[in-house]
Amino acid sequence: MLDKPLSTIFRLTDKHKKALARLSILTARDLLYYFPVRYGDYSKLSYIKDVSKGETPILYAEVTKIQAKKAWKTKMTMTEATLQEASGDTIRAVWYSQPYISKMLPVGTQARFVGTINERGGSLYLANPEFDLVAEIPVEKSGDLFADDKQELMLYPVYRETRGLTSKWIYHKVKKLIADGYLNELDETLPKDLLQKYNLPSVTSAIVYMHAPKKVSDADAARKRFAFEEVFMIQLVKQEQKALYEQSGAFMVNPDKALLKKFTDSLGFELTGGQKEAVDHILKDIGSDIPMSRLLEGDVGSGKTVVAALAAYATATTKPKGQSFGKLQVGYMAPTEILAKQIFTDFVELLGQHGITVGLITGKDCFKYPSKTSDGPTKISKAQLKKWVANGEVQVLVGTHALISKGVFFENLGLVIIDEQHRFGKKQRAALRAKPQEKKRQEQKKTKIEKKGLSDNSEILPHLLSMTATPIPRTLALTIYGDLDLTVLDEMPPGRKKVETTLVEPSIEAREAAYEKIRLELQSGRQLYVICPRIFEADPKKQKSLLVKSAVAEAERLSKEVFPEYQIGVLHSKLKKDEKVSVMQDFADHKIDILVSTTVVEVGVNVPNATNIIIEGSERYGLSQLHQLRGRVIRSTFQPYCYLFADVKSETTAQRLDALTTAKNGFELAEYDLQFRGTGEMLGNKQSGVSDLAMEAIKNIKLVEAARTEASTIIKKSLLSKHPALTRRFKRLKETMYLE
Ligand code: ADP
Ligand code: MG
Repeated sequence: MLDKPLSTIFRLTDKHKKALARLSILTARDLLYYFPVRYGDYSKLSYIKDVSKGETPILYAEVTKIQAKKAWKTKMTMTEATLQEASGDTIRAVWYSQPYISKMLPVGTQARFVGTINERGGSLYLANPEFDLVAEIPVEKSGDLFADDKQELMLYPVYRETRGLTSKWIYHKVKKLIADGYLNELDETLPKDLLQKYNLPSVTSAIVYMHAPKKVSDADAARKRFAFEEVFMIQLVKQEQKALYEQSGAFMVNPDKALLKKFTDSLGFELTGGQKEAVDHILKDIGSDIPMSRLLEGDVGSGKTVVAALAAYATATTKPKGQSFGKLQVGYMAPTEILAKQIFTDFVELLGQHGITVGLITGKDCFKYPSKTSDGPTKISKAQLKKWVANGEVQVLVGTHALISKGVFFENLGLVIIDEQHRFGKKQRAALRAKPQEKKRQEQKKTKIEKKGLSDNSEILPHLLSMTATPIPRTLALTIYGDLDLTVLDEMPPGRKKVETTLVEPSIEAREAAYEKIRLELQSGRQLYVICPRIFEADPKKQKSLLVKSAVAEAERLSKEVFPEYQIGVLHSKLKKDEKVSVMQDFADHKIDILVSTTVVEVGVNVPNATNIIIEGSERYGLSQLHQLRGRVIRSTFQPYCYLFADVKSETTAQRLDALTTAKNGFELAEYDLQFRGTGEMLGNKQSGVSDLAMEAIKNIKLVEAARTEASTIIKKSLLSKHPALTRRFKRLKETMYLE
């Protein structure tokens, strides 16, 4: 019954159907789970004399005049009414595109109106108010309407609306579903003891509390319940995954201490405290025969590559267990060709001098170092590379997702490293880790060995080191990466200059002053990034979007009007792959001074000489994203500069952007985003699949930890079978989570 399409329950117009589809509300269940975004309070009524622009008052009034007419230009129907309060005060109300209003509110109707106050030509009016007819309009007494009524609240839900669907419509339909007994069909997924332990309402109470709370604490309790439930369900899936990994075996990596010391000594710098700790965590993990699953989070430039290189070195110098010959191998996957090449170059430098053979595989070409024919890496054929990877000669293979393509087999894959892990799908990440199994299957096919004839040894998993520069708050990381252990690099290598960040207000003078400062930097040989929110010019009909700079147009403007003496390149996602690579290369080679780009340069690209960055429309980004963008310019010993061009109208925007000049690292900013900004703005939110409601909960570390602990207990003690409804939900969720 709950999964019946709404169109079979209610008579819906096409407009309703479309609107519901836009909100992904298709079934009765969907509607019951469409929660209000906030609550209004009818008992807090206002009087016309007190209202001001921007408010959403509740007014009781009588319609004394009403008239529908067609707007002159747009031909849109507009209904205008005069509303009169008991006090005699009046206000104008206006509805757009709702021609039937005048029939519903004939002169003399008394109603409660809720709408936003707008202003036009100096006079206030009520825009598109919602209304409920009332028998009588209250007279202002000394104080409030319900003063003799013990000040009871009269909460009403406010839902997010969409064209063709009002909050009121949604509320009425929800009420109808509840009245018709749909709630009786709901399964309680949470175990009873958890409801009791954490004082959470049952699912049926919670749904009622959500849509029709008697008091604010009801609604809060309901939100807490659903948030807990969501985080708990995610944790169940993650904890099961973790338990599965841990059942497999892994190669123990026990590197020679003296060799490791030689490696770190050759770096030419001391590891930071954070790096040392990360290395300790990793060496301890990979030294065991339980496969490591660790996430290394660290700001851009915090030195993750060195940590990864050390782990790779430790692995590549270790013999597989029980074997006196051969070495373990490492697979390192990066999301783009540019990044893979960069890492390859870094690894050749870091590992090559210690006699490690490094290979590179991308969709385009393959390289190997050392080479018999030159001092640097040589280009080789894909077939040749595959052969050397399969026989173990290439010890560390760096690549794009070409690395996981069929037919790339390792002899003894001991460790996989995934850089910018959030840029890969789950399937791609899993595929890299499953390489040893893929090889076994291939061998089985060749020799036609029956599956059951395989030894247990086939369940060897490589250790996994995942890395990300996306600063997300700890609670969110614990939730969405619940199957991984977490190490955070929250310290930058010493001597790194702090990015001098300036908030540039939207005036021509301020802009020019910033350009002049940048010109001095360009003159002394530095380079500049300019980040724009969009690629092409906006549709001129859409006024608002015109204010947003496009990379293509901005590049032209800069080269004509601002920096005609410099070479300017454009980079954006609509360019062909080769074009992107060549623009990036030109920038790296300093054939281009200024690179105007959309946010595709967000991650990983390393051009040390680019020490200036302009971010246009910076009020549109989350703080952690801005922080990541400015991380592009801290790759050298020169003083880096960041200019935030922003349309800072509101005090809060200015304050928020100000945090960028004071915060110590990206994690602090991510926490700031989480606490003070709509969670939708946070990095990692979209891909995490966590609802806004659960994101609210993620502000609360205690709740997240409780959900994680409870889920882990259920998995470890195999208690799922005791909770059939929970198991059903769990299975469904697992399917959808793995489809992604
Ligand atoms: P990311 O975390 O963004 O991958 P990288 O590993 O690329 O950062 O490091 C950025 C730069 O900092 C590199 O040039 C690297 O050689 C240097 N670096 C890393 N660790 C240290 C350190 N402990 N001291 C000084 N420089 C370091
Ligand atoms: Mg890196």
